[in-house]
Amino acid sequence: MSNTSKLDPTVRAAVQTAPRLRRAPRVAAPLSAADSNAVKALRELAASYSLEQIEQWAREGHSVIWGGNSWEAPLIRACDTIPVGFAELWKDDSLHAEAVAENHFHIPAEFCSMIKAMIGRLHLRKDNAIKRILYFGSTCEPISMVLEHSLHDGYELHCIDAASAFKQGERRDDLVAFLVNELEKVALWLTGKPVDQDRLAAELKFKNRIMTKVRRILDLRIEAPFYLSSLPTSALLFGSTHYFGQPEKFECIVDQILADIEAAALNPERRPAIPLVLAGGVAGGPQLLKVIEESNGVILGWVIHGTSDFREDIPPLEAVAHYLFDAQLKGELGEGAGASATLRRRRVEELVDKTQARGIISSFVTGCPYGSVVQGLEREYFKKKGVPMVSLEHSVHAEEPPTEEQITRVRAFIEMLAD
Ligand code: SF4
Repeated sequence: MSNTSKLDPTVRAAVQTAPRLRRAPRVAAPLSAADSNAVKALRELAASYSLEQIEQWAREGHSVIWGGNSWEAPLIRACDTIPVGFAELWKDDSLHAEAVAENHFHIPAEFCSMIKAMIGRLHLRKDNAIKRILYFGSTCEPISMVLEHSLHDGYELHCIDAASAFKQGERRDDLVAFLVNELEKVALWLTGKPVDQDRLAAELKFKNRIMTKVRRILDLRIEAPFYLSSLPTSALLFGSTHYFGQPEKFECIVDQILADIEAAALNPERRPAIPLVLAGGVAGGPQLLKVIEESNGVILGWVIHGTSDFREDIPPLEAVAHYLFDAQLKGELGEGAGASATLRRRRVEELVDKTQARGIISSFVTGCPYGSVVQGLEREYFKKKGVPMVSLEHSVHAEEPPTEEQITRVRAFIEMLAD
């Protein structure tokens, strides 16, 4: 049986009807991927992954849940279920959702916009077909609290009990056994039966293959920093968690981009570049990314993806548990995975060294206790190390363009680094 046959039936059907990308005979590598077929295909694929499309899958009878789209996503897919990241709750029309949270649930205005957009959107979509929510007990406390409100709107909640490993080797066997038990409960909650181990193993293998390619693309961006801009790069990183619902099509696009950038790295565009590491999300979204690039800044280090693979030499549920604990120990995958606030700086520092970054752009969502602690720790740490860092705060609202202040700070920071 091929890997495709073991993937979710919804996405398999979509994949089978999707046009395949072919490798074109290469003559000379273009300097930029902006108009390449692969980047266009990536843009179209990302645009097709909308809330409407996701809800349509649920209306068609597929099992779809909110959450479960991070380290645990392969398990959810192996349970014939489509996991939808909470980020989809604030992708569009989030100011409206935030207003609902403040007016209907009386959540104070000073709470983080992520929380408000989440619960507001869940309320607005309460009559929709997606009625189940999965969350991880090690995620931020406000998320656990606010999701309780969704019970009043008829949602069903399931929590993976908190499990954290912040010291190398500490109680690892006990923790793995505990988390495996929690993951078995998830499978029972979703399907009423244990997970198909072969199916899960295939999902883990597929994810490892995708991440190997995506990491290679990120490495090649260091050689050819202007070839693939930040916007498609961030789409690749986000897509590597959910494949935009079309795993094989996504992999074809990744393959094409990899082939293109391998060629571009042989003869890259030569002009001054200021390598940067982005620690956190993109404050100001695509518009701020444009400002960075117009100033010759290139984000070569991203902390939003994991650097570990799922082990393929042990039972797959154990592999999922080890993957999570490894990520926590490296400060990776963010607050949703219970990553250590104190350990993320190691990853940032590794990226600074690897990319020879001249500075760090650090951002967090206004009102996020986790984000402000992480940023505070990193500010102190990198100040001592002599690595310049600019701090930004932002909301989750895509409708809100970057502020003049953010633009000015970023431009001035990059100009300072260029001197
Ligand atoms: S921004 Fe921070 S506090 Fe708000 S939901 Fe996200 S992790 Fe939690």
